[in-house]
Amino acid sequence: MNPFWVEFPQRAHFPLPKGGHVVGQFWKGSEKGVSPACYPCHSLLGSLKEESLGQGKALPGAEPFCRLSLFPPGTTWSLPVSVAMALALLGSFLAALLALVWLGSRWLRRRGAGWGHQTLCAAGPARADDVRALVVTAHPDDEAMFFAPTILSLGRFQAQLWLLCCSSGNYYNQGELRKNELVQSCAILGIPPSNVTVIDHRDLPDDPAVEWDTHLLSTFVLKHIETNHINLVITFDAGGVSGHANHIALYTALRSLQSEGKLPEGCRVLTLKSVNLLRKYISILDVPISCLQSQDVLFILTKEESEQAKRAMRCHHSQLLWFRHTYILFSRFMVINSLCLL
Ligand SMILES: [Zn+2]
Repeated sequence: MNPFWVEFPQRAHFPLPKGGHVVGQFWKGSEKGVSPACYPCHSLLGSLKEESLGQGKALPGAEPFCRLSLFPPGTTWSLPVSVAMALALLGSFLAALLALVWLGSRWLRRRGAGWGHQTLCAAGPARADDVRALVVTAHPDDEAMFFAPTILSLGRFQAQLWLLCCSSGNYYNQGELRKNELVQSCAILGIPPSNVTVIDHRDLPDDPAVEWDTHLLSTFVLKHIETNHINLVITFDAGGVSGHANHIALYTALRSLQSEGKLPEGCRVLTLKSVNLLRKYISILDVPISCLQSQDVLFILTKEESEQAKRAMRCHHSQLLWFRHTYILFSRFMVINSLCLL
């Protein structure tokens, strides 16, 4: 008889290696009419080998109890084992749930690429190829960091695109460099250099501590709208996506133009919806959540278009600090834009 088998309920005692200790008792089903037996082990759910018991040979048929679910009456559980099991089960459940959501998000993303066209036609001009869209941003890199899904989707619908960046991003005296990076980024996003304008005004500095003058800003934006016969303006919402005061100033200026009735007839304004911090950094996992939320236009990029957005973002060399790389990988704004009519 195998010396490692003893009849239930007698307990087996084996020499443990130096420093080893019993963390639980593992039960094995009976074979050839032998009653269930128990043996101690010092490694939880590990491969139960004799060497772990100091013998040098594998235990025949040794299996962790969880596979057999064969617990004799009166089995007592030590706290570490039950806690570890609960954590293992919870971990498995969460991993399965995450995999399911990820697969669902990928499926929705493939379908969602066409939704932008339908929602845009319902919210804006009747035909997407009639769109003359102006994206109004505060700093060079906003267009790639936040608006790439909108710009690339509009380009896919044959819309004509302009970009008005209301500062040169001169906070660290890199204004000239950043203007060049902006032009390169826009070229990748499908906006020609001739349609890119940067306002470099001393009263509109790149500085979150400075409140931009609404009247001055509105004047610049309205002039650009009228000159280029714009019929769709896209900018930040009241949350400014990142909460930057310069982003929020753009929303205030557009809202002021609209409430005062100064926008040309038929010109619509779409604002980019801000989301909470968790949603901001779950990339495509936010697709199902975005679909359930209310918005007027929803743009979702295909995988190839997302790569294009990342390439545009990488044109902003001066801004590519380590956390920006993390942003490029995980931000939902590199894949999804939810927009609401003002
Ligand atoms: Zn910005």
